[in-house]
Amino acid sequence: MSSDKLPVAVIGGGISGMTTAVEAAETGLRAVIIEREHWLGGRVFGMHRYFPKLCSPLCGMEINFQRVRRNPDITVITGAELVSLSGSDGDFTLKATKNPRFINANCTACDKCAQACPVERNDDFNLGMSKTKAAYIRHPMAFPAVYAIDPSVCEGEKCAKCVPACGYGAIELAQKPETLEIRASSVVYATGWKPYDAAKIGNLGFGRVSNVITNVMMERIASPSGPTGGRIVRPSDGKEVKNIAFAQCAGSRDENHLAHCSAVCCLASLKQVAYLREAYKDSKATVFYIDIRTPGKYEGFYAKIAADPGVSFIKGKVAGVEEDPATRDVIITAEDVAGGAKKSYVADMLVLATGMEPNSAGLGAGVSGWLDSGGFFAPEKTPAGIYSAGVAKNPADVSASLMDATATAVKCLGGRWT
Ligand SMILES: Cc1cc2nc3c(=O)[nH]c(=O)nc-3n(C[C@H](O)[C@H](O)[C@H](O)COP(=O)(O)OP(=O)(O)OC[C@H]3O[C@@H](n4cnc5c(N)ncnc54)[C@H](O)[C@@H]3O)c2cc1C
Repeated sequence: MSSDKLPVAVIGGGISGMTTAVEAAETGLRAVIIEREHWLGGRVFGMHRYFPKLCSPLCGMEINFQRVRRNPDITVITGAELVSLSGSDGDFTLKATKNPRFINANCTACDKCAQACPVERNDDFNLGMSKTKAAYIRHPMAFPAVYAIDPSVCEGEKCAKCVPACGYGAIELAQKPETLEIRASSVVYATGWKPYDAAKIGNLGFGRVSNVITNVMMERIASPSGPTGGRIVRPSDGKEVKNIAFAQCAGSRDENHLAHCSAVCCLASLKQVAYLREAYKDSKATVFYIDIRTPGKYEGFYAKIAADPGVSFIKGKVAGVEEDPATRDVIITAEDVAGGAKKSYVADMLVLATGMEPNSAGLGAGVSGWLDSGGFFAPEKTPAGIYSAGVAKNPADVSASLMDATATAVKCLGGRWT
């Protein structure tokens, strides 16, 4: 039986937010998830596979979607952003803006609206490496399985080709933003992360050298639902990548960029080495690193990848990256600490292991005082009844985020926990 207490408001519907809501609701509380995007799942949904088992995140995600869908004590509000937060422990009031989706719940995800739509947009889910129509869905397994229309490119009533194409009366081009007011007993920020902007790390060539990409782009390139249908090819000419390099700590552990270690980048690069070695048996990978961080149970994963004769590790920071104008190959200058010299290397493609930066937009006024110097929520600074979960609090992998989200749900049950 659900509690008569006000619900727990969870801001952010990634794996941490969903887990907090599900664990709270399965313990007898009610939960409201307020998600900025039109779909749940967060960043994990963009991953090709999970380290260390290299399984797809989609099955775990689907289980969570089912737990959310079937639980009457969980309300999901998508396309919504927090505007203000007031009140105190036990009785908070959140005001949020719900942005129009322009497609209602009659949608069957049949894709007819997208087929009729004449306008394209850059697909942010694929990091701009492909296009969708203005009427689109994020992923074939997205939840809720309802399309949305991007108002920044849609021509509205002037075009309206999607309206007759939809056989279910689902298109509502006149929808307007709504203001919502939600009362909650406690508030959990599970707002996660965004990739650090690699263009800010000038010496690593992103945006200047065509075949320099980031680790999040690599996840989408390797994914069958990604821009290349899962073929690991380079952006400049679609050539199969046989010789790949990884630059670790691209931005992380650097006072000029992100002072923190992003906790997962070494493991992410190791799994991406595995993607390549599995795809092309004659490929080779070189990882430039400061030190490899694969603590605890992940040491075995590192040892397995390191034992592959097609993989080399060079201890040294990448100092500069240029493009060979004739071949579009990437020319990498890096220190070789063991060899004691600066050396030059040539690769088909370079992947920057860019770190995780905490999301800072749409958190509501006054939140800055609750954050640490890196922009993550600091539990010792948040008022009673306000908590954070997952990467909103610390750079972390999924399993650590899940444990933190479950612990956060326990805190919402009552009492003052830090
Ligand atoms: C390249 C790379 C590869 C990785 N691979 C793995 C892996 O293989 N295995 C593993 O365990 N971990 C991996 N990780 C780490 C993993 O991505 C994180 O642990 C995970 O995303 C944490 O989930 P989260 O819910 O805390 O944050 P997120 O996934 O970022 O979800 C946050 C959610 O909050 C929403 N949101 C943000 N701001 C607001 C707002 N103001 N209002 C409302 N909603 C908001 C977002 O839209 C999003 O849906 C990888 C990380 C990187 C960088």
